[in-house]
This record gives sequence, C-alpha cells and structure tokens, in this order.
Amino acid sequence: MQRFSLLLVSFIIISCAQAQEKPDTEKEATFAIENVGNGIYVHHGKHLDIDDGYQGDICNISFVVGNKGVAVIDTGGSIKVGNQLRDAIKKVTDKPILYVINTHVHPDHIFGNAAFKQDKPQFVGHAKLGDAMQLRQEAYDKLNIRYLGADAKGSEIVKPTILVKDPIDLDLGDRTLKVTPYPNAHTNTDISVIDSKTSTLFTGDLLFIERTPVIEVDIKGLIAAIETLKTYPVKQVVPGHGPVAQDWIAALNNEQRYLNAVLTDIRATIKSGGDMGKAMDTAAASEKDKWLLFDIANRRNVNTLYPALEWE
Ligand SMILES: [Zn+2]
Repeated sequence: MQRFSLLLVSFIIISCAQAQEKPDTEKEATFAIENVGNGIYVHHGKHLDIDDGYQGDICNISFVVGNKGVAVIDTGGSIKVGNQLRDAIKKVTDKPILYVINTHVHPDHIFGNAAFKQDKPQFVGHAKLGDAMQLRQEAYDKLNIRYLGADAKGSEIVKPTILVKDPIDLDLGDRTLKVTPYPNAHTNTDISVIDSKTSTLFTGDLLFIERTPVIEVDIKGLIAAIETLKTYPVKQVVPGHGPVAQDWIAALNNEQRYLNAVLTDIRATIKSGGDMGKAMDTAAASEKDKWLLFDIANRRNVNTLYPALEWE
C-alpha cells in the first residue's frame, strides 16, 4: 500500500509539473483535433499544472477510422473529455466505435472511457490493466474529486473487455491495429498500437516528446521498451504527450539519453555515499534545459528510482 501511495503522489506531482498556462474558457470550449491524414486524428491535451487548473485533459488522445468502424486510443482524464472526443468522432464519421484502447492505467488516459459505454465497444488493454485499475480506483476517484470538481461525476473506471497478453490485431476493415503489451516499464500496463495502413505508432507514455519523461515502475524496462520501439518499421509516431513526430527515432533517442543520464547519475551518487536528496539535486543535470517541467518531474523520477537502485 505504501508503494502505491508513493505512486499516486508521483502522479500528482508529475501533474503538478505541467506548464503555467491558465485555463482559458474560450480555448476550453473548443476541442481541437489534429487531422494527421488517412483516418488518423489526435487531440493534444494542454500542459496544465494540477494546482492551476488540471481539467483531465493533459495527454494525447487519438482515433483511427477504418471502413468497418473506429478505434479510440486513450480517452482523456474525465467523462467530459471523453464526451468531447466522442462528439469530435461523430463529426468525422458515423461509423460505429468498435474499440476503445487504453495505453496504460494513468488517470489522464482512462477516465473518458465511460463516455463510450453507450457504443458498446470492446475495451482493450494490457493483461494487467483491469487489476491495476481496480487497485487504484479509490485513490484515483479521490484525485478526480479533488481536481476535476463537477467533471469527476460519471468519470468512472471502465475496465478492459479484451486483455492483451500477447500481440493482437484489431480489424477495422481496410486497416488493422496491432496492439503489443510490454513488461514493466513506464507502468506495469503499457501497450503500443501500430496502424497497418499508415505505419503510425502510438506509444502511450513509453515516449514523451518535449516534456520530461516519467518512470513509475521500471527504468530498465522502459529503456528496453524504447529499444523495441526503435525496431518497428513505422513512419510516424504519436507519443503519450507532445507533438506527432516523423523524426521519431530522434525522439526515442532523446528519451533514452535522459533515462541513461538519470540512471548513471543516481548510481554514481549511491556509489559515492550520497543520499537521495543529493541525487535529486544533481541527477541528469545535463538534461535540465532539454525538457519542459524538468525540475519537478526529474526529482519525482529520482524519488522513485533511488530506493530501488540502492539495492542493485
Ligand atoms: Zn502515464
């Protein structure tokens, strides 16, 4: 339980680390969708500080339109965001919503699921996603009530109906989506999705672009997952946070460079007898100017990693 509390705090602090932009009612009224082309659509959440207007809309959420129907990839952090996404889909196509895929358990990615229950899709996630949702339900409900206000109502957990233990293909007619699960990395519930028609890879939070990467569970697993992602013959990548990238190998290399720096520096601090406070102040300092929200997210990562690395 202690470990879990730590993880929750981790999420809150990470969310706190969002940029300083104030919510803007006019902007909030529009739910912008980037049309990436060939049936791929992405909504980019805002970089908001959780103490300064976290509204459940901070990550990338996407949908893919095939000739048989639609797949949604992540649904946002509230039923309100899920409904906005659903409305946006209905403006693009009247084809049925067949699949709602969650890339991992973090609340900014899953709490819009409830908006799609009426469509009776298959909900798709990592083999461990249902259990992870269950374990975090109480804590996440509290978090939503605290930060989302009225939007917390109806923002309920909707568990996967298809649990992905080995890679599977989801059929959308003229295209398939390959869903691949990973061992412990960013979380213990990470999957990626590849669209066969456009060779687009959706990484979930295995890849952060611009914003400081987050490690909740296993940094070595995350580095290994990045190595795997690099081998895919894809043309563009939709990360968990940040812009759609054609130069995605460079983006993966950037993240790997950060992860290796934080890992190397924490190990060096431990070896020289330095405590966690010292590691927080010094680890990955070379990366400081390369990422948004660095100070808070990096300290949080060190707080997660140091205790585990101490016993290596
Ligand atoms: Zn995440």
